Amino acid sequence: MQSTFCNLLLSWYKKNARELPWRKENPSPYEVLLSETMLQQTRVEAVKEYYHKFLLAYPTLEALSKAKEDDLFHLWQGLGYYRRAENLLKTAKILQNCKDFPVSKEELLKLPGIGEYTSSAIRAIAFHEKDIAIDGNFYRIYSRLNASSLPFLKAKKVMKDYFMEKLGDVDPSTFNQACMDLGELVCLPNGKPLCENCPLSSFCFAHQKGEETSYPQKEEGKEKRTEHLYVYLLQKDGKYYLRKRDKKGLLSSLYEFPNFTSPLTLSNVTYLGKSHHTFTHLYWEMDWYAGETLKELPSYSLYSKEEILNVLAIPSAFRFGINKIKKEK
Ligand code: SF4
Repeated sequence: MQSTFCNLLLSWYKKNARELPWRKENPSPYEVLLSETMLQQTRVEAVKEYYHKFLLAYPTLEALSKAKEDDLFHLWQGLGYYRRAENLLKTAKILQNCKDFPVSKEELLKLPGIGEYTSSAIRAIAFHEKDIAIDGNFYRIYSRLNASSLPFLKAKKVMKDYFMEKLGDVDPSTFNQACMDLGELVCLPNGKPLCENCPLSSFCFAHQKGEETSYPQKEEGKEKRTEHLYVYLLQKDGKYYLRKRDKKGLLSSLYEFPNFTSPLTLSNVTYLGKSHHTFTHLYWEMDWYAGETLKELPSYSLYSKEEILNVLAIPSAFRFGINKIKKEK
């Protein structure tokens, strides 16, 4: 029999479920993998457009397995965290040799880029297996319902047990998505949650104490390291110097303009302005310069405006330069 908790949650979900491009009755595991991968680190609104574009270009896992890395990165441009696209491609290639998309946690976790959260989401949403895809939404709801001060990592196991017990015999796909929506629409991350609209308010200890915003407790964040870079739009014969970054590390395999931690001694360059970019643990402050050069830049190659705008995968950290090139006649 369905618990009161589930009755309340699911009837709220029936009326309030978000309409999302990846929401459908029976999404394929590939569609769940794709949407959940894109949603990591990226806002829902931004993902909507990319999800459509991506599925048009690579409608199936098989189509994705044949993708060229550069094309894939170009399509991903603007979403950031390119390692996700790289891992999707690796996973598609591996699965091409398998008969079926794996269902077991053990097999899913062996695939590149598929961790605890994504494996649970695929199992629950695509395969209707009993599982809970614990993310920030579940954590926030759990912490408030139980007035729990446990930090995320310590709470993981107990949260999972808690929601598994609540799940009972309900369809895991519906249950997971209902909790995700409750977290996004009602039990809000920033500011005061909308408890007056919450189907679970009668179960909520934080609400009973009037302390909703005290949970979950904030964890001390690590201070970001700042790196100062001098970036150059250097032209030769009407083309620009760029190069592909290393296969490993930050922004791996993406294209970059020449950039250095100290300024080059070039006489004929103009200062363009400043930009900055924030990574998870790093902050880039960038000073931009433009000019012509007669020098060869070893390890860099020359690319046309057309290639820069439409072919190369250049991370958004370098958007300032791309915008300048766009405006040039
Ligand atoms: S009652 Fe308020 S704090 Fe508690 S779960 Fe609902 S929205 Fe979140």
